[in-house]
Amino acid sequence: MVKANAYGAGTVDIAKHLVSNGVDSLAVAYASEGKQLRLAGIEVPIMVFYPQVDQFHTLIQAKLEPALYHPDHFARFDTEVKKASLSSYPIHLKCNTGLNRIGLSPSECLDVLTHKNNFPFEIKSIYSHLGATEEARPHKFTENQIERFLTLKEHATACFDTPPLFHLLNTSGVFNYPEYQFDMVRVGIGLNGYANHPEWDKKLKPIAELSTSIAQIHHVKKGESVGYNQGWIAPKDSQIAVLPIGHADGIARHFGNGKGMVWINGKKAPFVGNVCMDMLMVEVTDIDCKTNDRAVFFDTTHPASSLAKAGGTISYELLTGLSNRIERIVV
Ligand SMILES: *Cc1c(COP(=O)(O)O)cnc(C)c1O
Repeated sequence: MVKANAYGAGTVDIAKHLVSNGVDSLAVAYASEGKQLRLAGIEVPIMVFYPQVDQFHTLIQAKLEPALYHPDHFARFDTEVKKASLSSYPIHLKCNTGLNRIGLSPSECLDVLTHKNNFPFEIKSIYSHLGATEEARPHKFTENQIERFLTLKEHATACFDTPPLFHLLNTSGVFNYPEYQFDMVRVGIGLNGYANHPEWDKKLKPIAELSTSIAQIHHVKKGESVGYNQGWIAPKDSQIAVLPIGHADGIARHFGNGKGMVWINGKKAPFVGNVCMDMLMVEVTDIDCKTNDRAVFFDTTHPASSLAKAGGTISYELLTGLSNRIERIVV
């Protein structure tokens, strides 16, 4: 799963690395993401999980494999495939087993299979997505989803001489329900070193570090304020470090006012005041530091999941929200 800029890490670099390590197939959310990979010379199959009808043409031009998830998609995609004079075009069927986000119902899915010979498609895989894989077992909701998928799998298999691939699990699913890996798994956040559970996280290594350097240090007197709308009033004479990164870079305002923190020379420095668009301020009164010293938001010892939690969010949102203004350096 290399959608959303490979979870913020940089789609093309990560995709190339994965391909060189032998992954069979990549997946993205939207056609534009797949096209970007094709333009970068990636040739492995690329699944597109959330295509829109108006992207079908782009999909075909870029040789991307759509997940079709709406009964209307089949006739529409059929038209586009025929327009391009193609046949046996690879597609995937997305089935809704309870997440109630996107997908054909199991009966719609079987209906498609009954008519599959009318379409110029090769159904490469049938899959569903679980909505609560990180929650402790036993878990009734997840069991119901798995049950529905198993039933669908059985009926679907009977419709083929050579059955397609079946897949169900995301990262936490691989850890929590390894017996349901079927033919493929769809690992996203796990490739970045997180698995939504402290025990599973221990088995992974975060791949990314986010750091910047101190732009300026201020000494403020007790009672003086820092930042927009006087977000922070110094309770005592204090030292403040200004960092050149802000909410336009993806460090959202909800990290402000003491929720977020960075690590400077091994010590924790809390955000003070409101996060600005391009900068934020941290308190370093008791930290021995100077201009240009590194400030680390997350790395292998200070996981992004901890910073995310401090800001009331999850690693996914923090990582994928990091904007392109942040330079990605691949080591
Ligand atoms: C994003 C996504 C995944 C990857 O989930 P992680 O929790 O990041 O491993 C898997 N399947 C689908 C359908 C997705 O959209």
